[in-house]
Amino acid sequence: MKQLILAGVGHAHLMTLRNLPAFTRAGVSVTVVAPGDFHYYSGMGPGLLSGIYRPEETRFDVRKMTEARGGSFIQGTVDRIDAPNRRVILTDGRTLAYDLLSCNLGSEVIGLPGASPHLIPVKPIENLHRAGADIRSRLKEAPLRVAVIGAGPAGVELAGNLLRLGASAAHPLAVTLISRDNLLMRYSARARRLALASLRQRGATVLVRQIVRQVEASRIALEGGDPVAFDMAFNAAGIVPSSVFRPSGLPVSQDGGLRVNQYLQCVSDPVVFGGGDCIHFDPRPLDRVGVYAVRQGPVLCRNLMAALGGKSLSLEAFEPQSRYLSILNLGDGRGILAWRSLVLSGRFAFWFKDSIDRAFMRRFQKE
Ligand SMILES: Cc1cc2nc3c(=O)[nH]c(=O)nc-3n(C[C@H](O)[C@H](O)[C@H](O)COP(=O)(O)OP(=O)(O)OC[C@H]3O[C@@H](n4cnc5c(N)ncnc54)[C@H](O)[C@@H]3O)c2cc1C
Repeated sequence: MKQLILAGVGHAHLMTLRNLPAFTRAGVSVTVVAPGDFHYYSGMGPGLLSGIYRPEETRFDVRKMTEARGGSFIQGTVDRIDAPNRRVILTDGRTLAYDLLSCNLGSEVIGLPGASPHLIPVKPIENLHRAGADIRSRLKEAPLRVAVIGAGPAGVELAGNLLRLGASAAHPLAVTLISRDNLLMRYSARARRLALASLRQRGATVLVRQIVRQVEASRIALEGGDPVAFDMAFNAAGIVPSSVFRPSGLPVSQDGGLRVNQYLQCVSDPVVFGGGDCIHFDPRPLDRVGVYAVRQGPVLCRNLMAALGGKSLSLEAFEPQSRYLSILNLGDGRGILAWRSLVLSGRFAFWFKDSIDRAFMRRFQKE
């Protein structure tokens, strides 16, 4: 019996999980490895922090999805891949043999100089749920200072949703957003202005072009600026692909992403596939956003089946769209929608994002 291992279940593996019965019917044994029973949908992460969403609205029960469809679920974390011997090695030492491997291991938040026990990486998304509960309970007792480092879409959404938490609390919540560059560098000037106005009008301190020199226990030292004191801080300074591939003997890009061809197949090893933030798409580097991970899902599923020799399928190329819709949740019931040169802000934008996100959840939450 052929062994297919799905290493990690993020957005790119959801379609394969949903279609597991087709694999088992074809006589393939499927093993899914994930650190926990749930995969959280990042698009709803900032709203999970502020309480717009309950945890069960934002997550997929990947253990149930696997077991209900005839796969085996292993709770564990991939340490590395021994590609020459076709084995996956888990951090607890367990070793799993594969005939075909698909990786959807996501990304890791980049480290900042220094350290603090109060610095929380924005990934995994579960962190945001725990932090939101912690902030709510602490604001019942005393004021709180929360800093967000990094003002890309994740940092801006976090700051906006922190302001939402503060707006209904017994004690004040001071929110400081710190950015090395300007806000939202991949967006237009209008989107930037709208985000900045929303955050400042609602009371956030926004520090742009400030480089973090050192994160200390409860203070962030900046290059050439006053230090920022905090009780809790979020690291949203950027991401790099999962670190699993570098020691694996598989080809990686400069930032450590698994190099794949147009079929989402490793460029040097035809039995290894991958999708989402953990890959480097050789035909054209892609932004690391959920949109691509989700769109790769059906191609990955088909190509895994094709690689197993199923239904005489041929490999299908993933053709990424050149532009994608982006909508930011500002945390006050409003959003900023950016599509090509169009930028809209207001309640409609958040309503639209919320509808898309909820529809996505409904599509895959079915057991
Ligand atoms: C706060 C926030 C908000 C965002 N909002 C949006 C948005 O609105 N729209 C958008 O397009 N993008 C958004 N993004 C970006 C988006 O999160 C990523 O691009 C997307 O999650 C990539 O999907 P993925 O499946 O590759 O990885 P992930 O969603 O990170 O999934 C990877 C999975 O692999 C598992 N895993 C990780 N390491 C291991 C290991 N060693 N062994 C086993 N399993 C492992 C993890 O538990 C996880 O379940 C946001 C990011 C953040 C941080």
